[in-house]
Amino acid sequence: MYDYLIVGAGLFGSIFAYEAQKKGKRCLVVEKRGHVGGNIYTEEMEGIQVHRYGAHIFHTSNREVWEYMGQFAEFNRYTNNPVANYKGEIYNLPFNMNTFNKLWGVVTPRQAEEKLKEQMEAYRTDHPDNLEEQALNLVGKDIYEKLIKGYTEKQWGRQATELPPEIIRRLPVRYTYDNNYFNDIYQGIPIGGYTAIIEKMLCGAEVRLQTDYLKQKQELDAQAKKVVYTGPIDAYYEYKYGELEYRSVSFETEILDEPNYQGNAVVNYTEYEVPYTRIIEHKHFEFGTQEKTVISREYPAAWKLGEEPYYPVNNDRNNALYAKYEELAKKEERVIFGGRLGTYRYMDMHHVVAEALQKVKEENF
Ligand code: FAD
Ligand code: UDP
Repeated sequence: MYDYLIVGAGLFGSIFAYEAQKKGKRCLVVEKRGHVGGNIYTEEMEGIQVHRYGAHIFHTSNREVWEYMGQFAEFNRYTNNPVANYKGEIYNLPFNMNTFNKLWGVVTPRQAEEKLKEQMEAYRTDHPDNLEEQALNLVGKDIYEKLIKGYTEKQWGRQATELPPEIIRRLPVRYTYDNNYFNDIYQGIPIGGYTAIIEKMLCGAEVRLQTDYLKQKQELDAQAKKVVYTGPIDAYYEYKYGELEYRSVSFETEILDEPNYQGNAVVNYTEYEVPYTRIIEHKHFEFGTQEKTVISREYPAAWKLGEEPYYPVNNDRNNALYAKYEELAKKEERVIFGGRLGTYRYMDMHHVVAEALQKVKEENF
């Protein structure tokens, strides 16, 4: 008999397992995929840590979370400075003085503010209803057309006028020459990759790979006192109220016989006509000097049931549906729902760490 059956060996499940084991609890971890780590899984190719499910940069302003992760790996000094390629023109992201200078030749913050005001003039509204209105209100016409519209519409597979305004509010707008994509205090990439972190967390737990919990639910449930479920919540309830929607991505990874393909870890392709949203050159996350390089093109894709879910689509319809599942989840006495699929939320890794530690606390082992 196990104390906890943990469904999913991603970051959430692995932290839970680590903490429970530390308190002498017996854990069985089941994972559908053939490897641990969930979406933060990294694997070595040509001596380079490759992020198989998309670039993962750890960033947080929560010191407790940062120190927690520091137990499992040393983090390097990587700071995310993505650049945007729009029809061969290169712009710095997030939107900052470098971007404004390249677009309009402005040099001082005051000049930039004036230019942005002029750019936004025709689109002023106090209550933007959709992403297009929000973006035009934040950065005006040129930035919207060159750096946002195409990228966003291919990323989400919808017109910007049909998307919620919140998505774009995540991106900073700065009147400084600061290309750091994030505002957080702490940032870096774990030396040796994320998989090594997860392996440390799971050390001592029994892990069964290629095991789909939902296919053997009764049998597995009978083996543990409690269940920690990090898979999709609608699947747990056999889609009784309907399916939650996701946006998917597919990755095309290539080894190239050259040391430096694009000179940066992340290059976004912001025009609609290029079918991928970005190219990741993995070695630049760790300042690699190998003779070869590995790149991944990221293609946004429609999602249908049975495929890997990536981004929850938090529109009104899906949020209302999730609320119904959440009601059921609250009534469960021996099941804890966690992580980005279990709670149907866009969560960065630092959110997952904080939430997993909170759930651990609530268990009061
Ligand atoms: P997951 O990693 O999805 O783990 C859940 C696990 O459960 C999976 O391994 C799955 O196979 C397994 N599972 C599901 N159903 C079953 C079942 N029935 N039986 C057994 N196992 C099951 N965050 C950042 O902080 N920085 C970034 O730069 C960043 N970049 C991202 C880029 C992309 C493209 C994406 C999609 C996400 C990114 N994130 C980033 C978010 C990050 O990936 C998540 O916060 C984190 O991986 C979530 O961990 P989790 O344990 O909740 O979920
Ligand atoms: N975005 C954009 N142009 C860019 C990068 C991002 O318009 O070059 C928009 C896009 O709508 C995206 C949102 O900003 O969905 C959030 O971007 P972020 O990089 O935070 O998203 P992630 O790729 O991490 O999900």
